[in-house]
Amino acid sequence: MIGENFEKVKARIAAACARVKRDPAEITLVAVTKGRNVDEIAQAVAAGAIDIGENMIQEALVKFNAKPLAISHKPIKWHMVGHLQTNKVKEAVGIFDLIHSIDSLRLAIEIDKQAAKINKIQDVLIEIKTSPEATKSGILPQEAGKLIEEIAHFKNIALKGFMTIAPLVDDPEKARPYFRILRELKDSFSHVQYAISHMPILSMGMTDDFEVAIEEGATMVRIGRAIFEGVSLRANEVGEAIPKT
Ligand SMILES: *Cc1c(COP(=O)(O)O)cnc(C)c1O
Repeated sequence: MIGENFEKVKARIAAACARVKRDPAEITLVAVTKGRNVDEIAQAVAAGAIDIGENMIQEALVKFNAKPLAISHKPIKWHMVGHLQTNKVKEAVGIFDLIHSIDSLRLAIEIDKQAAKINKIQDVLIEIKTSPEATKSGILPQEAGKLIEEIAHFKNIALKGFMTIAPLVDDPEKARPYFRILRELKDSFSHVQYAISHMPILSMGMTDDFEVAIEEGATMVRIGRAIFEGVSLRANEVGEAIPKT
């Protein structure tokens, strides 16, 4: 079931890429495993999942240290996709390859400090609040420039791009403007010397809206339910075009 779902998601990613003439190899699929057990994660890994996303530190630590995953000898990359509290940074830096949710200077300072202690350069994304109602976390697009500049001074943080969570909408097309805001934000920094080569990642798109996100330039999609629940795929699955509005 999980293996089949994983394959279907990959096919849908490929179909979305084909519509906008992108190479599916540009898209990293993060399997979001919050609330899923180690056995379920192991099934996803067996199906080819490399990138695993969690949103709570305690839960992630348990899974990170779980034997069944360790003995699979697969090169798992761990992603922190949820909001990160300053007092959990030490543990987060210890296990995550990419933290998607930097939304304050205070958090960045702590990440830099904890990463320095273990000689790590921590890859991070800045979380942008592209819609007022979607989440409490994230900074406004107009605040990004200042935070990017500040982060550029930290030796133990590597800024890799941006993340956003689109609001819950009944039709994925309605999420499109929020993804566009994120892509345009990234493009607006492409001339900035210290940011240019380091910011290729746009983490956007979840089960309900990842195809639209890919059409708008996502390079990383975070998908939980389509992989782990028996969700029925909508009409926009493999081969059928999403009607453009
Ligand atoms: C849960 C979660 C996802 C995955 O959501 P699905 O709708 O299950 O695909 C992606 N991103 C974040 C930040 C999440 O918390």
